[in-house]
Amino acid sequence: MTKSRFVQIAKPWIGSLSKYEPGRPIEEVARELGIKDVNRIVKLASNENPLGPSPLAMKAMAEAAGRMHRYPDGSAHYLRQDLAAKLGVGADQIVIGNGSNELLELTARVFLDENTNIVMAERAFVVYRLIAALSRAGVVSVPMKNHTHDLDAMLKAIDSRTKIVFVSNPNNPTGTAVEPAKLDAFVRSVPPSVVVAIDEAYVELMPPEQQPDTLRYVREGAGATVMLFRTFSKIYGLAGLRVGYAVATSDAIELMNRMRQPFNVNAMALEAARAALADDQHVERTRRVVREGLAFYENSFREMGLNYVPSAANFILVETGRGRDTFQALLREGIIVRPMDAYGLPAHVRITVGTGEENKKCVKALKKVLGKAK
Ligand SMILES: *Cc1c(COP(=O)(O)O)cnc(C)c1O
Repeated sequence: MTKSRFVQIAKPWIGSLSKYEPGRPIEEVARELGIKDVNRIVKLASNENPLGPSPLAMKAMAEAAGRMHRYPDGSAHYLRQDLAAKLGVGADQIVIGNGSNELLELTARVFLDENTNIVMAERAFVVYRLIAALSRAGVVSVPMKNHTHDLDAMLKAIDSRTKIVFVSNPNNPTGTAVEPAKLDAFVRSVPPSVVVAIDEAYVELMPPEQQPDTLRYVREGAGATVMLFRTFSKIYGLAGLRVGYAVATSDAIELMNRMRQPFNVNAMALEAARAALADDQHVERTRRVVREGLAFYENSFREMGLNYVPSAANFILVETGRGRDTFQALLREGIIVRPMDAYGLPAHVRITVGTGEENKKCVKALKKVLGKAK
């Protein structure tokens, strides 16, 4: 086959980039199964908040609708002020992004090129690999221990080309968190020529007393080259709006601001994020529902004799034998989960904790497709 003209014009390495495989959208699965009522589909595939957006955020969006002919505040002044007050850092130590994924990509663009590499855990969030590839940087992939980041091995894997080491904590897709003391020792040992990028997309789901105090690295200023990445997509329930943030010393934030588009985050998202940030009740309820849901899955898996990885996040990795087949069979039951072969875990699926009712439906369907129904 002759190459398309566009492919001939394009940079030759683009063709070898792999694409991110997202969770299957509800509407698409409903169309495929010939189901009219999308409410019959249960999506437990993208670690979204089962309770929906914060009610305060919905109200703020309704009120903001009439102002959507205006460009957003490109500096996201008020959201940064609110975050700064909540986190105990300066507003100049925060940058808002179109999801934290945008900020991960900007970080790659700031620090990486073809002469550099990143260090990451083998089964950490796949986006780190993808953004390294976008910058033509190498990826040093470090095996995990018990599905957990092996920080000692990661430290040893850092070489003279390394610019960023990624730690996903808790990690997606394994749900594991590293011990705070180990993380601290790691951060203090990484050479100052390397950025420690700590992805905390799920950190607020941990009981507050168990969350590692990573913000202190930013407060301490000079010394640790730590960047923290957080999001409104998970506990705050705003995945559809795309808003996340990075926290780092102001010199790092300034580099990110040079790289980003002037209006990278939309005005609706900025309003909703501010309201969601103030909704402690919704956050607390979400934490409780997720904790109850995890306990339900763990009990069910034990009952079914399935191995699982204990989770500190809002999803759980379970071994079902042939994960891709389980995923397909559950789809036919109207339950969307995530196959894990892309992560080198062909025997597992990842299930997001849903509402109590959704979790029951999921376990019932899982028993059926695995032939374990009573
Ligand atoms: C979901 C997730 C994110 C958040 O991505 P957004 O772009 O903010 O929606 C970041 N990192 C990890 C590990 C995630 O699982």
